[in-house]
Formats: sequence, C-alpha cells, structure tokens
Amino acid sequence: MTARLVAGVDIGGSKVLAVVLDTEHRVLGRTRLPTRHGAAGIVRTATLAVREAVAAAGASMADLDVVGVGVPGLVHPVTGAVSHAVNLELGTDPVDLAAHLNERLGVRVVVENDVNAAALGAHELRSAGRGDLALLSIGTGLAAGIVLGGRLHRGARGAAGEIGHVPVDPAGAVCSCGQRGCLETLASGSALVAAWPGGSNGSAARGRGSVWDAAASGAADAVAALDVFAGGLAAAVRLIVLTWDVETVVLAGGVTEVGQPLLVAVRAALVHAQRGSALLEALDLPHRVELLPAGSPVAAIGAALLAGGTRSAASLPRAQEVPS
Ligand SMILES: [Zn+2]
Repeated sequence: MTARLVAGVDIGGSKVLAVVLDTEHRVLGRTRLPTRHGAAGIVRTATLAVREAVAAAGASMADLDVVGVGVPGLVHPVTGAVSHAVNLELGTDPVDLAAHLNERLGVRVVVENDVNAAALGAHELRSAGRGDLALLSIGTGLAAGIVLGGRLHRGARGAAGEIGHVPVDPAGAVCSCGQRGCLETLASGSALVAAWPGGSNGSAARGRGSVWDAAASGAADAVAALDVFAGGLAAAVRLIVLTWDVETVVLAGGVTEVGQPLLVAVRAALVHAQRGSALLEALDLPHRVELLPAGSPVAAIGAALLAGGTRSAASLPRAQEVPS
C-alpha cells in the first residue's frame, strides 16, 4: 500500500476507539477495546488499538504518517502533557502521552483534548466544511468544542468552550472549579445525579430506573430535576450561539446516550426561553440543536484530522459517510 494513512484514537474512561483514515478522510479500519486505567494501561490499550485498526485497514504500521489522540483531560498547549484526566487514573503528575506512544508505535503522535477533537470530527462528518459548529459535551462535566471557519478555536490559553464554568447563579452550589453556581452544577451528568439521587445504581443519567424513566412515568421530583437540567443546557446553547453564532450546536457525551428524550427536553426549554424575546425567536435556536448519532466515532476522526494537519475547511474534501 502506498497511500499515506493517519490514525485517530479516542481514549475514554471505559473504551478506547481507534480509526485509520486515508487522505480522502475515509475510514479504512476501526477497532474498539476496553480501557486499562493508569498511565501504563492507557499506553498499552492505545498502542494495541492503533495496531488493530491498522490491521483492520489492511495496512501496515509503515503506512502510518501520524497518530492523533483525544483524551478527556487538560492538554498543555506547548508540551502536550496530559493532566487532570481523572477518568483515566493517570495520577497527579502530567503525563507525556505523546512521547510514550511514539516510543511504542514508532510514529509521530499528537495529543488533543477529546471534546476539541470530537468537535472537529463532528464538523467533518456533519457539515463537510459548511457552517460553524459547536459540540456540547455533556458527561460528568460540561464543555464545548468550537469549530470556526473549519478550524478548531482553542482560544489564547486553551479555555475557549469551557462553558461549564460560566457562573449563572450567585446563590448556586459550589462547583468543582471553586466558583459558585456554574452551568456545570445545573447541566451535567454529575448535576443530574445530585438533583435526582433516586437512580437504582447511582447513575441517574441514563438507562432503566433512570431519571428519564421516572419522569416519563410522571414522578414529580424527576420531572423537576430534568426541568432544571434541560434549562441549564438551553442556557449553554444560548450562550454558545450568542457568543460565536455557530450554525449548529451538536449535543454529545455520555449523558446523551438516552437519545431523543434529551433532545426533546432541550428543544422544549429553548422554545420556552424564547417566549417574549423577538431576538431569541429570530435566532431559531430549537432548530439549530442536534444530537450526535450514537456510536459516531467523531473524537477519533477529529484527532486523526488534527494530527494530519488539517488547516482549513477549504482544503477538506467532501465528508465521507462513516459506517457505524
Ligand atoms: Zn465551575
């Protein structure tokens, strides 16, 4: 095989997903492995995932130009060191994941925050360079990745899109960041668990016995918890659109696994919010919110594109349909 390939890896708390793309951004191979935690475990899982995805693509490691990796943590803008990746149990010191993986794989490795990578991947798959896009990731926390003019917008210090830490309620709960009443204390998986601790397994966010199930059967406390949650997400969407005026806000992250009920709740909250506001009505927010299709490997694809040096939408070919 002569075509040069790039690999993208999405390292999550429970699974590691790897894809191999060709120069046309087509997915040639993919694999999914359970995550081994800790620095050594992460390096081992990611290495194996890349090798398996390359094999699935019918290629060899020598065909790989670069590997992009998305991680749920802070990535130092200069050194690329990963810190605060709590879900991965990497420890308290920053980890030079790129160097460790480069040593194992023998290929250049670029590391990026997973929400940023997912935003770029969603932009590639969804809009093929048409229109600016934000991906709002609703997991344990709340954060957005912003793609403007086909490029990831990181900001001067990498904090662009840290929307979960915008304070909205001076009398609200203390947030993990030390402020009070952040959006994340209203609209995140952890906020939902705190607001409705009735989940059978401590996970109120999805599944059987979840707050969604309870609300659907009319439990008043579950309905109230979801009202606050959806209202917080609607506030996040308003904030994103009024700040960047992105054409589309894609809802993603673990909490969205519940699917349509979440999208319906956010759209209803946006309709409610725009009552009496000609300004908001004109912005048509309910129709600018979408749900990321389940199983879409956007973070792995985005990580590959970032590593491959995708610079502008103008240079992107048409988005390819990705088998799921
Ligand atoms: Zn905060």
